[in-house]
Amino acid sequence: MEKKHFATKAIHGGYDPNEMKGSVSVPLFQTASFRFKSAEHGEKSFLGEEDGFIYTRIGNPTINVLEERIAELESAESGIAFSSGMGAISAVLIALTKANDHILASKGLYGSSFSLLKMFQEKYNISFSLSDFESEAEIRSHIKPETSVIYIETPINPTMKLIDLELVSRVAKEHDIPVVVDNTFSSPYIQRPIEHGCDIVVHSATKYINGHGDVIAGLAVGKKEWIDEIRATTLKDIGSVISPFDAWLMLRGLKTLPVRMDRHSDNAEYIVERLLKHPQVENVYYPTLDQSGIFEKQMARGGGVIAFELKGDKKTAQKLLNNISFINVAVSLGDTETLIEHPATMTHVVIPEEERRKMGISDTLIRLSVGLEDVRDIWSDLEAALNKL
Ligand SMILES: *Cc1c(COP(=O)(O)O)cnc(C)c1O
Repeated sequence: MEKKHFATKAIHGGYDPNEMKGSVSVPLFQTASFRFKSAEHGEKSFLGEEDGFIYTRIGNPTINVLEERIAELESAESGIAFSSGMGAISAVLIALTKANDHILASKGLYGSSFSLLKMFQEKYNISFSLSDFESEAEIRSHIKPETSVIYIETPINPTMKLIDLELVSRVAKEHDIPVVVDNTFSSPYIQRPIEHGCDIVVHSATKYINGHGDVIAGLAVGKKEWIDEIRATTLKDIGSVISPFDAWLMLRGLKTLPVRMDRHSDNAEYIVERLLKHPQVENVYYPTLDQSGIFEKQMARGGGVIAFELKGDKKTAQKLLNNISFINVAVSLGDTETLIEHPATMTHVVIPEEERRKMGISDTLIRLSVGLEDVRDIWSDLEAALNKL
């Protein structure tokens, strides 16, 4: 598959129909365990001397196709699937850290990723610091002898700030620290961190990878030796395993990833243009508006998520959501449906107010995940809600 282009890999990656009785669609192996041919075959399977499946928590043919496909799409050696994005993130971070280590993370994180770091600190004395990752000197100033992971999001949820992946991986390499990137907001169609020198990519596949808002799942990709290690330890023993059916739905969603990401981006650009001119809107945050040159270096499109600040206060933000008609007031993102939410009181409420302000999450910040409906209808709903403020 090496020479195929992205859209072809999204449909065919990791799958050979000849190995599955010619089935054009990837078959669903909805089973917990796999029958051994003999006692000796069972013994060899457990010793790892023979390839084959044992138990779905350790491996399953449907899940394997998903894992190989996401690895191909992210330009990684190997991939692994989980029952949720947080399952993937926690498995990766637990595998890469030990008690008394230090994690350097981006100033601006998904709410549960932030509370996970807090839990590590309280339970295992794994400390963390937050960096803007703006310059080599600034990054270096946060690195300690015990720093064992750099963990970043870009674009940052929900402020849409960008971090230069090549800059971070260059500094990290000097100190031999692996860089883990949460690529949920972009998907590999828009941004492939491994190609910029990063080591591990994690996804909440609940979002754009699946794309239809009906499954919770997570993925991670990276060097084979790390992914094998995660499979044998934090996946096997903690067990946030994806169900074969959910993996099957992911494969179905992934086929249309390039088509969906282009339309999400087209629709979002249309909305951004209009939000910029609306008198009730104070600021608009979207990757293509970034002036630092990072967008051009690492992103193919802007994606479907827009953040904007209103003139007014928390009540104004809540009023906007109450004024909305068909757009869903709901968390999550990357669905076919347009979703609107208020980070300060919803997705990011777990982050203490002071930290939230430092991250740029004000009380009037709104996050909009632009869906695949007709963009004229999306804008007219949003515009009517803004006009009523
Ligand atoms: C949703 C999300 C997560 C968590 O993923 P789940 O699938 O809900 O567990 C992590 N990171 C980002 C950026 C997200 O948007």
